Amino acid sequence: MPVEISTELRLLVATRAKYRCEYCLFPQAVALHKHEPDHIIPIQHGGSTTLENLALACLRCNRYKGPNVGSFDPETKILKPFFDPRREIWFEHFELVGSLIAPKTANGRVTVKLFRFNDPERVAEREKLMRAGLYSM
Ligand SMILES: [Zn+2]
Repeated sequence: MPVEISTELRLLVATRAKYRCEYCLFPQAVALHKHEPDHIIPIQHGGSTTLENLALACLRCNRYKGPNVGSFDPETKILKPFFDPRREIWFEHFELVGSLIAPKTANGRVTVKLFRFNDPERVAEREKLMRAGLYSM
């Protein structure tokens, strides 16, 4: 069942995020589908619909994350949580290498993998946006 998020709360989440996905940094202005507030800790895992537990997410990040909170690190096979935009800083977990989003930590690795940051079409799209000056860290 979808969770009701008030217009006011949606606006706060979007403005705080400067209208770009807090996971992959994709700008809402050029997205085909409107970004949505994502429950960082999903409701079914005890998360709440509050500003502290919401992050603006593009359709792809939101869909690939689904109800998950983490995954097994491809390097260590240890269960790690996803990057948390409320409690962590993006550039401490990721860096841009050309138009690829490269992970710098285990949390970054599971996020890049599960959210499919570097699917070929996403990398190609990011590259075009970078050339147009519409995508940066
Ligand atoms: Zn995204």
